[in-house]
Amino acid sequence: MEPKVSIQEGWKVLEDLTINADQFQQKVLEEILKQNAGTEYLKRFLDGQADKELFKKKVPITTYDGIKPYIERIVVNGEPADILLAEPVTAITLSSGTSRGQAKMMPLTNKQLDQLTYCRSLAMSAANKFVDGLLEEGKQMQLLFVRPDIYVPSGLPARPILTSYHKSKNFEKYESSLYTSPMSTILCLDSKQSLYCQFLCGLLQRDEVVNIGAVFASVLFRAIRFLEDYWRELCSNIRTGRLSDWITDTGCKNALSLMLTGPNPEQADLIEAACNSKSWEGIIKKLWPKAKYIDVIATGSMAQYLPILEFYCGGIPVVSMPYASSESFLGINLKPFSKPCDVSYTLVPDVAYFEFLPVKDYNEEETKEVHSDVKSDNDLTEKQTKKEEIEPVELVNVVLGQCYELVITTCTGLYRYKVGDVLMVTGFHNNAPQFQFVRRQDVVLSVDVEKTSEDELLEAMTKAKLLLEPFGLVLTDYSSYADVSTVPGHYVLFWELNMDASSDLPEFNPKIIEQCCSTVEESFNYLYKNCRKGNTVGPLEIRMVEQGTFDALMDFYISKGSSVSQYKTPRCIKLEEAFKVLDSRVVKRYFSQKVPA
Ligand code: AMP
Repeated sequence: MEPKVSIQEGWKVLEDLTINADQFQQKVLEEILKQNAGTEYLKRFLDGQADKELFKKKVPITTYDGIKPYIERIVVNGEPADILLAEPVTAITLSSGTSRGQAKMMPLTNKQLDQLTYCRSLAMSAANKFVDGLLEEGKQMQLLFVRPDIYVPSGLPARPILTSYHKSKNFEKYESSLYTSPMSTILCLDSKQSLYCQFLCGLLQRDEVVNIGAVFASVLFRAIRFLEDYWRELCSNIRTGRLSDWITDTGCKNALSLMLTGPNPEQADLIEAACNSKSWEGIIKKLWPKAKYIDVIATGSMAQYLPILEFYCGGIPVVSMPYASSESFLGINLKPFSKPCDVSYTLVPDVAYFEFLPVKDYNEEETKEVHSDVKSDNDLTEKQTKKEEIEPVELVNVVLGQCYELVITTCTGLYRYKVGDVLMVTGFHNNAPQFQFVRRQDVVLSVDVEKTSEDELLEAMTKAKLLLEPFGLVLTDYSSYADVSTVPGHYVLFWELNMDASSDLPEFNPKIIEQCCSTVEESFNYLYKNCRKGNTVGPLEIRMVEQGTFDALMDFYISKGSSVSQYKTPRCIKLEEAFKVLDSRVVKRYFSQKVPA
């Protein structure tokens, strides 16, 4: 069966999937069990029986650490992958690893790549439904990248999921013709040459471009910063019809020799006029006038890039279509043009079996009570474990307004596996629930018994950022660090600021930033404030870093194996070397001047 669904058929498929969501879910689970009940992992619980009820009763809910020993046997010892999954493993997927500090490794199969093609074509159909067949007419300027393969001891290549996908036959056959970037520019291993050439191709075809995108909002933001540095050279290439000498990658050179066929001073003048203006507000609209939307994930931790992207967009809407992870494709936004803060995803019911563990929202009173009588770290872990004993519910049994931690079972050897995301039910499309991304479950910061999650940090940052706006200051990126070298330990935030998206280092009154420190503390949870009052956590510190620091941090992670496409700024720094990248660029330090109420 062809994994690709045509753009015209896609919406009908989505209707069928959402009307019969439960039937699709039961069928997926049946198939996974039929295929995998005999694996060593599942045999321990099911005794070889492909029985759905037994599965729900006996197979424990787990995290990555639960399957890691099996993965290591496959990856390191070279044992056959059928200890975990029946389908042949073609590669090892490396998760971006920026949230845990260390990449996770997971088996990749051909079926998973087919599922990706299938889900991506459904997502395109959903977008297309709202832009009147536009995708069929024009080209998409998607900035896509790959990482070099590394080989694990068993001999399998290991790489990020999107690298596997972009290198796959599926991508070449079903998708590559939709994009302005020729395959060889996407597959170029030097990300700078790759991005330069992808921009050149996107500018040469600027009148055909119907959308502009990258996987995450952060990637597009960084790409625009790159364009700020390179537009003159790109214009000169277009004007003269000659590619810059530093583009030495053979694939890129060959691809560009077919596109950059002669001097084009008219086009170069138009691009130059747009880029030469003092402010880059609306630059995307000026450069790609027919673009109907910006296709990037801008929810969850990516929401912070929205204001700056909107500044560049000139009114073109930012659309977050997919919700996906290295483990599996997960969901699609069926209302692409809803406001970014209202974006919800419908999980695709025939790609994985989904279960949901009810969790309390951080802001709920009861959670505070749980925290208030916590005495020690162990105590907290115990409370968390108790929470985890709550029974999961199936996809069609989730309740509107409730938050859940997502648990998936896939054909790639993940059984009742916690993805680490918390989602909230915001509505239904036919019989399928729609979810808003709430937060990652991971605790990012910890000093003493205090633990702060990524979304708490994001929420605090969103409030603090408002204080900067009246002064034309824009927080372009941030990260955090638990400094336990001081007594008591305290949280450090690394901030990079811009003045109205210009690249000059802004001047500001220190009082504003001290106030930001306090606002962040005020926004943190009850336990944090309690620890501050008891002086077991010290005043929060903001370390302002010089311009380009977070680009340097990305370069550092890329050099360590992260993928450009899937890179997300780590919201908490745990690696010593990464800490040094930030700390060596600190220009000023500010501390909270008051204990939070
Ligand atoms: P990775 O497997 O490292 O590429 O990261 C996958 C994670 O990225 C997911 O588990 C989510 O936490 C996050 N993510 C992916 N898609 C979205 C989205 N549309 N909105 C918010 N967060 C997302």
